[in-house]
Amino acid sequence: MHSQFDVIIAGAGPVGLFLATELGLAGLAVLVLERDPADTNPIKAQPLGLRGLNTPSLEALYRRGLLGAALVDSGAALAHVKPNEGFRSAGHFARLPINADWFAPSRWPYRPAGPAFGTALTDLATLNRALTERALALGVSIRYCAEVQGLTQHDGGVRVQAGSEVFESQWLVGCDGGRSHVRKLAGIAFEGTEPSFTGYQLLCELADPEQLKPGFQTTPAGFYAKAGQGLVMVTEFDQGRFDRSRSITLDYAQALLRRVSGTDVTIKALHQAHSHTDRAKLASRYCQGRVLLAGDSAHIHSPMGGQGLNTGLGDAINLGWKLAACINGWANPGLLDSYEAERRPVASQVLAWSRAQAAVMAPSPQGRALGALFKDLIESQDGANYFIGRIWGLTQRYELGDSHPLVGASAPDFQLSGSRLGQRLHSGQGLLLDFTHDPALCVFCRPWQGRLDYLAGTAEDTLGLKALLIRPDGVVAWLAEGEVDLTAAEAALVRWFGPA
Ligand SMILES: Cc1cc2nc3c(=O)[nH]c(=O)nc-3n(C[C@H](O)[C@H](O)[C@H](O)COP(=O)(O)OP(=O)(O)OC[C@H]3O[C@@H](n4cnc5c(N)ncnc54)[C@H](O)[C@@H]3O)c2cc1C
Repeated sequence: MHSQFDVIIAGAGPVGLFLATELGLAGLAVLVLERDPADTNPIKAQPLGLRGLNTPSLEALYRRGLLGAALVDSGAALAHVKPNEGFRSAGHFARLPINADWFAPSRWPYRPAGPAFGTALTDLATLNRALTERALALGVSIRYCAEVQGLTQHDGGVRVQAGSEVFESQWLVGCDGGRSHVRKLAGIAFEGTEPSFTGYQLLCELADPEQLKPGFQTTPAGFYAKAGQGLVMVTEFDQGRFDRSRSITLDYAQALLRRVSGTDVTIKALHQAHSHTDRAKLASRYCQGRVLLAGDSAHIHSPMGGQGLNTGLGDAINLGWKLAACINGWANPGLLDSYEAERRPVASQVLAWSRAQAAVMAPSPQGRALGALFKDLIESQDGANYFIGRIWGLTQRYELGDSHPLVGASAPDFQLSGSRLGQRLHSGQGLLLDFTHDPALCVFCRPWQGRLDYLAGTAEDTLGLKALLIRPDGVVAWLAEGEVDLTAAEAALVRWFGPA
C-alpha cells in the first residue's frame, strides 16, 4: 500500500495531464497512473497527431502560461483545409468550408481579439510534453506502465489497484479515454448512438498518386482526401463494421482505398494507420461517489470538426479548481456538482453536432440534399457567424442564473495597463477585477484572500463594465455595469469561493 494522495488520475493523455497541472497548482498531492510507457507512440506526432484547438482551449492554456509551449507551427495545417488560394478557412461543418472573411467581430462584443482568440493547431506529442513538464514542475507524480485495473470506494476515499500495487486517494478521476476502465469499474453507463462510418488516416506512399483527385472527394461509398505530408484520409459508411482491435494492414488499406475512391490506386508502403468511428456516447453521470470522469472517458463522438480534445480540456479546467476547493475545505455544498451540471450539457451538444455532420455527409440522396441546404446557410453571413461561433467555441456559456450574456461566459481578454487579463490568471485563483478603483470593494473581498486575487485596473476598453468576478477557469461569475451591488457580489463570492 502506498501513501495517501489527494487525487489519483487514471490516464496521462492531454486531459489527465491538464487536470494534474490544475490540481498541482492548487498544491494538492496528485498521482497520475498511465497504462502505456512514457510517450513514444508515433501516431501522437504530426501528421496523425495533429489536433485543432478552439478558443476555450486556447484560453485555458493561455491563462496558465502554457500557450507557447503547447502549439505547433500553423504552417503545418493540412492542405485539404484550404479549399482554394486566397480562401481564409474558419473551419468546416461536414466538410463544408467556412469562410473566415464572413466573421463579423461586431456580433461578438465581449470577445476582443487577443493571443487566445480563434483556432490553432497542436499535436498530441507536443501538447502532452508541455503538460507533462508543467505537471512535474508542480510536484505531480506520474507512473507509466501502471494500468488501473481495480478500484474500491470507502467512506474516506478510493483504493486503486494498478498491477500488483495499491494506491490510496481521496478522489479518483478517470481520464483513461473512450474505453475507460474507470467508468466501467464505477458502474457508470455510457449511452448514445452506434456508428454509421469508419474513418481512417493512412500515412502512406502511393505508386500512382495522380489517380486520387485533390481536395475532398465524395463517392458513393464515403469520401477520401489526399491531405499532404503523405496522409490519405478515407471514410467508409459501413455502420462501423471494421473491427478496430484488428491492425490495418497494407492489403486492407489498399482494398479500402480502392473501394471508396472507385480507382485502382496502389499503396506502395503503409507507414502508420489509425481508425475511428462516429459512435457517439455520453456518460450517464460524471461522478459516482468519489470517482469522477473527464475527457473521452465521459464522452466520445466522431473527430469530425475537432471537438473531443477541446471538450476534454474544458472539463479539466472546470473540474480542477472545484475539486481542489473540496479537498482544501472551502467549497460550498454544490460546487463539485456544478462540474457535471456545466460540462455534461456541453458534451451533449458536441455529440449532437457530430451526429448532424454524419447525417449531412452520408452518401445518400438525403445526405446530398442536407449538404446543399447547409452549404447555402454557411455561405450567408448569418450562417457563417453561427457556425464560426459554434466551431470556435465562442457561444459556450454556462447557465449561472443571471441573464447577462457575459455571466457564465469566458471573461474578455481585456488589454489592461501592462498586461492582458489572461496573463493575470496564471495563479489558478479567482480574480475580482475592479475598474472603479473603489477601496470599499478591495476591503470587501479581503476575507477571500488566498482563493481570490483583487486587481484594480484600467483597460483600453472596459466594455462598459465596472467590476467582474472571474472564476479560476476564466468564467465570469458576477459583474457590475452600473453601481456596484455589494449584496449581489457577496452572494457570488460565497457561491463560488465559499464562506468568508
Ligand atoms: C483522427 C482524430 C482527429 C481528432 N482531431 C481532433 C481535433 O482536431 N480537435 C479536438 O478537439 N479533438 C480531436 N480529436 C479527439 C481527441 O484526440 C480526443 O478527444 C483526446 O485525445 C482525448 O483525450 P483524453 O486525454 O480524454 O483521452 P486519451 O487521449 O485517449 O488518453 C487516455 C490515456 O489513458 C491511458 N489509459 C487507458 N486506460 C488506462 C487505464 N486503465 N489505466 C491507466 N491509463 C489508462 C491511455 O494510454 C491514454 O494515455 C481527434 C481524434 C481523432 C481520432
